Amino acid sequence: MIRADLVVTDAREVATLARGAVPRAGEAMRELSVVHDGAVAVADGTVVWTGPARRRAGSVRLRSGGSVVSAEGGVVVPGFVDAHTHAIFAGDRAFELPLKVAGASYAEIARRGGGLFATVRATRAASDGELLAQTSDRLRRMLRYGSTTIEVKSGYALEVAGELRLLRLIRRLGRSVGATLVPTFLGAHAVPLEFQGRADEYIDLLIRSALPAVAREKLARFCDVFCEPGFFTVRQSERLLRAALALGLGVKVHADEFVLSGGARLAARLRATSADHLLCAGALDRRRLAAAGVTAVLLPVTAFAASPRRRSPGREMVDAGVPVALGTDCSPNSWAESMPLVLAKAVHGGRLTPAEALTAATVNAAHAVGRDDAGRLTAGAPADFSVFPLPSTEQLGYRFDVHPSLVYRQGIRVFSR
Ligand code: ZN
Repeated sequence: MIRADLVVTDAREVATLARGAVPRAGEAMRELSVVHDGAVAVADGTVVWTGPARRRAGSVRLRSGGSVVSAEGGVVVPGFVDAHTHAIFAGDRAFELPLKVAGASYAEIARRGGGLFATVRATRAASDGELLAQTSDRLRRMLRYGSTTIEVKSGYALEVAGELRLLRLIRRLGRSVGATLVPTFLGAHAVPLEFQGRADEYIDLLIRSALPAVAREKLARFCDVFCEPGFFTVRQSERLLRAALALGLGVKVHADEFVLSGGARLAARLRATSADHLLCAGALDRRRLAAAGVTAVLLPVTAFAASPRRRSPGREMVDAGVPVALGTDCSPNSWAESMPLVLAKAVHGGRLTPAEALTAATVNAAHAVGRDDAGRLTAGAPADFSVFPLPSTEQLGYRFDVHPSLVYRQGIRVFSR
């Protein structure tokens, strides 16, 4: 008899995603391993059993003091993993939106005091307390949408001490917000104004002064780089990422978002954990990513907000055999916090099926952030899951604005509506 301290029952469907290798590619992305009229049992923060509710009494005994929670006929899905965010920053850039919709160029917006460097100024000027307060508000709202694991990148300080400060603050937030945070070092988010025309020197500085500290203090799981014209070249990106790999960090690439710049090709060559954005990647890049086992992290809300003429290439990636994951890309430039919205955009704009989108938002996104144990409801996995008051899991991706009624992380209720 399995002992449990929490049982969630009366679920019309439990999407366990229990079967198959991680990450999932192709056909396997459509297999959710759904248990109908199901239940989930948890002990000590870990899933210990899933199955039909009618078999629960014969398999699971509740410990004294344990609790039984009704899903009230809704669906239980693994906690979403938001595989790509820039959630730590100060202020907002709402003021530049009228300029943007009027067609102002990036350079014009920057001249009027907007753009990425406006956020860099605000973030450098903000106290630790201000950054903690603003970022924890965002992360808690993400949690209320069902995201139990959230990748958070540094990248709005663009100086060594400031970038390390952001990573240390992410670590502190991980102890307080109720979600599992995965920190990524993105010191190479842009060439700082102090280094304009000297990007190579800035990369040297990051390699010499930032990366060793990041590795020594274990401040980040990954190193990422913005590989695009006007940001960092393929050569500069490769130099930084190879130094990160040598220090034991995983690597990711902001690749081929605005133009085909060679970022996906670089990710494949380095066997990066993920290549992200990929709006301009072509068929050859998809084949390279598939062959190298690199996960494509797609950000369909950013495609919608920032590149209206382009579409997130979900269908093309899945058909090419590339494992696909999803993220909000929450930033002051495209401020999304809702993974249910990301699923809906991945389906309607990226042409994923709802099942593929759910796989991309759970087990594949977990792989993209180095957490292969998460994103599934199988014995031994962290008990991270949400209950949605919906008649089937397909409704995720179908409806644009849905909210969970309950969210659990490591068997603890972190949100209830
Ligand atoms: Zn990004």
